Amino acid sequence: MVEEQLRARGIQSPAVLAVMGTVPRHYFVDPALPDDAYSDRPLPIGFEQTISQPYMVALMTELLNLQGTEQVLEVGTGSGYQTAVLAELTGSIVSLERIPELAMQAKERLARLGYRNVEVITGDGVQGYLPQAPYDRILVTAGATIVPPALYTQLKEGGVLVIPVGDRQQQTLLAVERHSKGWTQREICGCVFVPLIGEAPHP
Ligand code: SAM
Repeated sequence: MVEEQLRARGIQSPAVLAVMGTVPRHYFVDPALPDDAYSDRPLPIGFEQTISQPYMVALMTELLNLQGTEQVLEVGTGSGYQTAVLAELTGSIVSLERIPELAMQAKERLARLGYRNVEVITGDGVQGYLPQAPYDRILVTAGATIVPPALYTQLKEGGVLVIPVGDRQQQTLLAVERHSKGWTQREICGCVFVPLIGEAPHP
């Protein structure tokens, strides 16, 4: 997975490549699909949701440029796999998941794997999470129609927000940076994510 799907496609960060090689992805995937755990695609995790393709997890993680001490907000815990990858690379994570059953399962998995720097909360990530704001990094792992305004304001100056934005069929992965005078954004690539629930409906 690391060599053929990540390094060969341009993921360069040694830290990200190392973590993607050690976090046990099969642990976060339906036990009925063990042979698929490291395949080059998203997989179903129930409730019409997916665990993202390994390349997309690595790309989004690399874009966050984590140095080991950041306070991170993740929107869309899903299986908890991306959360585990982040937990290996940063200080602390608040991860919001809208579906209580997924939040519970992810919380149990992450606890069993020994991650102590993660807090999984059932809640609506469109609102962000004010009690621990502002954040050095914010990662949204579901497709939004716009950048939710609360996430702009909960990002620290100097911080980075990575989010797929578009319609239901296709989104563009954006990397948004907050500066002293506002925000700038870069378009990274096209992508397809399940929709961010709770927003205005996709057009
Ligand atoms: N990163 C996850 C993983 O590694 O398994 C996959 C995330 S999945 C593509 C998107 C997740 O976002 C789903 O679990 C979905 O329930 C969640 N989600 C959608 N809208 C949300 C919202 N408004 N707040 C919190 N979570 C939301």
